[in-house]
Parts: sequence; C-alpha cells; structure tokens
Amino acid sequence: MDEKQKNQKDKPKLGMKDHFRFDCHPGVACFTKCCSDINIFLGPYDVLRLKNRLGISSSEFLDKHTYLLSTQNQIIPVVVLKMSDDENKMCHFVTDEGCQVYEDRPWPCRMYPLDMDEDEKFSVLADPETCFGLQENKETQVIEWLEDQGIMDYQRAYNYFNEIASHPKIKEMDVTNQQIKSMIIMATYNLDKFREFVFGSSFLDIFDLEADFIEQLRVDDTELLRFGLDWIKFGLFGEKTLKIKPEVLEARSKQGLGAGQDIS
Ligand code: SF4
Repeated sequence: MDEKQKNQKDKPKLGMKDHFRFDCHPGVACFTKCCSDINIFLGPYDVLRLKNRLGISSSEFLDKHTYLLSTQNQIIPVVVLKMSDDENKMCHFVTDEGCQVYEDRPWPCRMYPLDMDEDEKFSVLADPETCFGLQENKETQVIEWLEDQGIMDYQRAYNYFNEIASHPKIKEMDVTNQQIKSMIIMATYNLDKFREFVFGSSFLDIFDLEADFIEQLRVDDTELLRFGLDWIKFGLFGEKTLKIKPEVLEARSKQGLGAGQDIS
C-alpha cells in the first residue's frame, strides 16, 4: 500500500446519512482544475453515455478519447479517459465554463469529491489543500449527493459489469486468448461493433430471443449492454443467462458439442 492509499484508508468513513462539506461552482478558485492530470477509469456505461452524448460510434470514441491499460495476466483491460498531450494534461471535455459533457460525465466525475469502498462506505477523496470546494459552507448528506449526481443508473450498470470483472472463474481464464479478450471488449465497451456482430452474423439464429426484444436491441444501447454482459456470462462462465434455440441444441448434441461451446 503506497502513502496515498494509506492516507485514503485512514480518512473517516461516511455512511449514506452522514454529511460532508462541499460545493463546486465557477466562483471557487480551483474551478475545473480537478479536470486535469487525473486517471479517470471508464466503465462500459460511461463509454455508452459519452459516445452517445458526442454523437459518435463507440469505436471512434474508444480510438479518440481513451487508451487501454492491460497487464499480461488481466483478461479485462482497464479503459482510461485520455487527457491532452501538452503539459497541462487537461480532459478533452473541460472548458472555462465547466464540463462540456456534464449530463453524461463519467462515474468518477459524478462521485467526486467522494470515493466509495467495497463496503459501500464513503470517504472524501479530494485534498483540501487543492480542492477549495471543501472549504465552502454547503453541507450535503451523502445519499442526497448520490441522487443529485445521478449515480444510481451508473452504479447499477457498474455492479452488473463487476459480476464479470470480479467473477471467481475470471482468474482461471486463458489470458493469452486474444479472441476472448476481443469478445469481452466488444460486448462491453464497443457496443456499436457488438450490434453489428449481433445483427450481421449467425448470432440470432442461435439464441432464442423474443422478436420485441430483438427490435429493442437495435435501438437501445443500455439494453444491448446488459445483453452483452449476459452473453459473456453465458459464454465464459456457463451461466444460464441466455437460451439456445431447441433446434440448435439438438443439432449440437448430434455433433457432440455442449450448449456454451462455439457461441458465436
Ligand atoms: S468529463 Fe467533465 S467532469 Fe470529468 S474530468 Fe472531463 S471535464 Fe471534468
């Protein structure tokens, strides 16, 4: 544990009903300074909201605005928001007036100045020496803050994704298998590509899906993301999150293939 992590661990823990002091507005001397030289890790739902906000495809968003961090023994890469290449390392979306994508800003920007630990306890992440918003007079209850920042939708999506990221079987996966890695990135972060795959391959001939639901997948990114995560759970962990068509199952059993094999 480095010094910064230790300091964070030692900070007082806040529950949902506790209050903290913070306000952020253009009158605070450090306004928008926290939008530079930071690591912002993006979840799949962050990417979905941002690429739709910008009106670009998920591939374009990932190429232009993110980079992947992946260690050799990690099957799910970490997607990081790019900062500018100059010495200021500013977020691409910050302006003098504030965040240009405010309504669709990522989870960490919504949560700031708080951090949440695994036990769903909160602590003030920001440093009072650089974040003058912590010296403002406004007091807010943690639960009110989360509601006001629209965290709940993000948290639900994150929890569902995390069932994969922290799945006990993920550690046993063949981390050198590029096909599995590509499949995971496509169905989580690159939703427009995943949609092309679902509608442009034999995918829909294999899985038993209601016609209404198929039409929803054409237009609803949030539903498509949830479906992609279910597909990963089905394909990687053998969970019963999707159903294969009976005729496909029958043909497979004649060939001696299991339900989760060759899922594409
Ligand atoms: S997305 Fe918005 S709030 Fe987050 S760092 Fe960039 S400008 Fe700041």
